[in-house]
Amino acid sequence: MWRIIHNRLPIREALFKRGVICSPLCCLCDGTNESIDHLFMGCDWTKTVWFASNLSVNFAAYCEATISFSEWVSKVIMHHDIEVVQLVLSICYGIWKVRNTRCFEEAELPNALSCWNNAHKSISEFNSRADMLIQSIMHPIPMPDSAIRWTLPDTDFYKLNVDAAGPNNDGNWGLAAVIRDADGCVVAKTFSLFMVHFYFKFYV
Ligand SMILES: [Zn+2]
Repeated sequence: MWRIIHNRLPIREALFKRGVICSPLCCLCDGTNESIDHLFMGCDWTKTVWFASNLSVNFAAYCEATISFSEWVSKVIMHHDIEVVQLVLSICYGIWKVRNTRCFEEAELPNALSCWNNAHKSISEFNSRADMLIQSIMHPIPMPDSAIRWTLPDTDFYKLNVDAAGPNNDGNWGLAAVIRDADGCVVAKTFSLFMVHFYFKFYV
């Protein structure tokens, strides 16, 4: 969205003006130069996406419009509820995704209604996961006692725990060791990587 507002999207018309060898025409309709205004509110397919949404946005009168898309988006962000802002941003992202699959993979133009549905669905999933994250932070689930298997060493004793894992992509193994006192405080620890060589001996 920052790129839209600051006119920094690698849009075809801008690339063409900079001398990049490509068609300046819109990937979606192939009939008009692809500018940010055209892609996000002037293209017939894009208008249908906005019309299919429940935002009451109608860019049908785009030709007469005196506002650029970046100005319109800025006003939405400044003056509307978070629900509306989420929908607008998600639809913009959906339009950009469809545009890229058309440009680079020559994919079929999907039904405009599916673009709106995907935007709506992605917001629901995002909000649902955000709720779960907030709940987990506010109400952390305590670890059950049965999951705690490590016990303190007796008084005046130390406990040594050793673990190893591997191999990693370089063929190395990791070895870690930690020593704790009777209060559970770490008094010594070490970690090292090493290469394991296997030797086989055959006895006849
Ligand atoms: Zn177009």
